[in-house]
Amino acid sequence: MFVLSSPSGAGKTTMSRRLIVDDPEIVMSVSVTTRPPRPGEIDGRDYHFIDDAKFDELLEAGELLEWATVFGHRYGTPREPVQDALHAGRDVLFDIDWQGTQQLQQTDAGSDLVRVFILPPGMGELERRLRSRGTDSDPVIAHRMRRAATEISHWGEYDYILINDDPDLCLGEIRAILKAERLARRRQIGLAGFVRDMLAKT
Ligand code: 5GP
Repeated sequence: MFVLSSPSGAGKTTMSRRLIVDDPEIVMSVSVTTRPPRPGEIDGRDYHFIDDAKFDELLEAGELLEWATVFGHRYGTPREPVQDALHAGRDVLFDIDWQGTQQLQQTDAGSDLVRVFILPPGMGELERRLRSRGTDSDPVIAHRMRRAATEISHWGEYDYILINDDPDLCLGEIRAILKAERLARRRQIGLAGFVRDMLAKT
């Protein structure tokens, strides 16, 4: 489970998309949310857009691996697609906040979690990026900036911290982390037999 968290506007969504496009071994976890779609967002690709009643239903049925309220709307990770992907030996990418990251840590697969936090180069630049999206009103942007400060205050709970002042460099760093984590001895499950066979031939 590979988590990317950041305050909104730090470039995480673009980064996640680019990562999954050229790496077939990792799949994106598509969250459910009660927030309305933004212009350009596609149901089933960016989020599964659902209403409050449906969210309650999923919660009660235990179908969410984690969930949180962000900006007054609820967001959650459907459990089944994640479990299926993990069982099939694939990595799963999560674009979720610090609250969800803490909950993933508590799950059965929590010990296999890699947590990456992306910082913006500065608060001024973050506000500029939020405004350049042109999708949110002034009060919403002010609220997102306050929320960004809260999100950033949780940076100490992550394994890796990146500063996104150059998206290409940042993406390269994310790929490097993914590569290194895949090469970690505890994740190379088939290797013991390979090494044993190799030594048997000497
Ligand atoms: P946005 O509305 O800008 O797409 O997302 C707002 C925040 O909610 C972002 O920080 C995003 O990472 C977080 N988020 C999106 N989906 C989920 C989810 O399923 N669970 C949790 N905990 N946070 C989520």
